Amino acid sequence: MIDYENLKKLNEPFFEEYTKKFSEVLNSGWYILGNSVKQFEEEFTKYNNAQNTIGVASGLDAITLSLAACGFEEGSEVIVPSNTYIATILSVVHNKLKPVLVEPSIETYNIDPKKIEESITSKTKAIVIVHLYGKSCEMDPIIEICKRHNLKLIEDCAQSHGAKYKGTKTGVFGDFGAFSFYPTKNLGALGDAGAILCNDDSLAHKVKRLRNYGSDIKYLNEVVGYNSRLDEMQAAFLSVKLTHLDEINEHKRCLAKLYLQNLNSDFIKPVVHPDYFDVYHIFNIRHKKRDELREYLLENGIKTEIHYPVSPSNQKALKGIIDEKEFPISEEIHRTTLSLPISFCHTQEEINRVIEVMNKF
Ligand SMILES: *Cc1c(COP(=O)(O)O)cnc(C)c1O
Repeated sequence: MIDYENLKKLNEPFFEEYTKKFSEVLNSGWYILGNSVKQFEEEFTKYNNAQNTIGVASGLDAITLSLAACGFEEGSEVIVPSNTYIATILSVVHNKLKPVLVEPSIETYNIDPKKIEESITSKTKAIVIVHLYGKSCEMDPIIEICKRHNLKLIEDCAQSHGAKYKGTKTGVFGDFGAFSFYPTKNLGALGDAGAILCNDDSLAHKVKRLRNYGSDIKYLNEVVGYNSRLDEMQAAFLSVKLTHLDEINEHKRCLAKLYLQNLNSDFIKPVVHPDYFDVYHIFNIRHKKRDELREYLLENGIKTEIHYPVSPSNQKALKGIIDEKEFPISEEIHRTTLSLPISFCHTQEEINRVIEVMNKF
């Protein structure tokens, strides 16, 4: 059996380092907002060539707190891609803002810059872009649109740790870069965790206050805040994992190359372009008979996933929140996409086996 993902196997090479860190934090007697969080924030800032990192409790909270720090008037509009994971949209809803969905490009699966401006109204205040599957969005036109319309730009980097656009890592193009360290992400913790990159010191301070009950000084509360702190233990584990992130990304890129070179042309493969350094959080292909293909692979001992089976506009939770509109490109992606095994725990031999079986479909 070839798993889609195996978190024990993925983390096994780091067990010894984790155990040492666990013991350090345990013995420090300091379990919330201590030296481990401070140290990881500094390391993550350096890794991304950023100005500030604020550790938070999850990826959802990273986007939610970024939007909260902007202080938009209730009912303001925020543009989001129509094929994202629901968390991106929930962060907008939790801030009492209105998500406005814009279709992706069928080539890159990322928000189509050419379709953004037709959705901008006098109420639009921000764009939350998503670097889906580990490929950066097309940043030049997006940055230009944000400048022209005076919009805040938030990058959902939950799938793009270490991915680059024209040599710059995702997360520092906008006002905020929001990261998830959910265990399956390229930089995954051993539980829930997240972080925000922010190059503006004043906005960074606002986010930092919001994550800890709106307080700078203990028991003095300046604003209505949240409890969304990065856990001290998770931060210690993340410091270990961060030193291996480039190695993890390289491994995934190497497996992706096997798929790209050897899968036959019945499968629509991800596009490759020299401006983009892709980290393949997900390696997806598209096929008309996706469900049949998935069943066939399972019969042959290969597990796959679908990201995502139901589009946001078809989710019951978002009924009455998202405008009733057709999103044909998203629907096409949701109907045909299939995610293949591409974990740090997979060997080249396993991927070659997946390719061999797929080419006989
Ligand atoms: C995983 C993910 C999130 C949410 O992260 P959590 O840490 O689970 O809250 C948000 N956006 C995208 C695109 C994701 O893949």
